[in-house]
Amino acid sequence: MKTKPLFIVMSAPSGCGKSTLIDMLLQEYHDIVYSISCTTRAPRGEEEDGLDYHFKTKERFEELIRENAFIEYAKVHDNYYGTLKAPIEEVLAEGNSMILDIDVQGAAKVRDYVRALPNNDPLKIGYVDIFLLPPDMEELRRRLVNRGTDAPDVIERRLANAEGEIARADEYMFKVTNDDLGHAYKRLCDLIDALSGRM
Ligand code: 5GP
Repeated sequence: MKTKPLFIVMSAPSGCGKSTLIDMLLQEYHDIVYSISCTTRAPRGEEEDGLDYHFKTKERFEELIRENAFIEYAKVHDNYYGTLKAPIEEVLAEGNSMILDIDVQGAAKVRDYVRALPNNDPLKIGYVDIFLLPPDMEELRRRLVNRGTDAPDVIERRLANAEGEIARADEYMFKVTNDDLGHAYKRLCDLIDALSGRM
């Protein structure tokens, strides 16, 4: 079935299950491609070039900035991170969809970029942004504690960040609350099916 190619931008505070939900989508929807960011930071552990990130030198990254190759980029802790425009255009031109996992600030830059595009640009035609919400702050705290990956001060910092991000949830076209993983996944699928004309 031919579907409308989407450019899906998704944000969520950490601990909301965003990575899990994106993994579930990618398993089921083989026409959705995950956008791999570029970075100048060094690979960590098992990270692979072209899989986790496109690892670039600072010189190359700055060259790409000058060439306007990025739809958005940011400097975080002395390293650059950015989303290339060309891979998104290519995926959409092939009739597939791209999903971009990005924080609220990055998403705002992407939104501004897309807004300025002509109305007939495939990125603008297929654009949709979704904010994933925790059921409430107590549940988010519980999930971050149960995840067991962060020290208490890191958890407090993540929760403070989450409040700031949730305060901007209204900037997004759609909000999905992850109260229960199965329910949230179903709502995401329904949304994507409706927007892409799958049903
Ligand atoms: P890490 O180095 O831990 O993989 O990521 C550090 C930060 O960079 C995270 O907060 C992550 O959200 C952000 N980041 C990763 N990719 C991109 C990107 O393409 N654009 C922007 N603006 N931030 C990114």
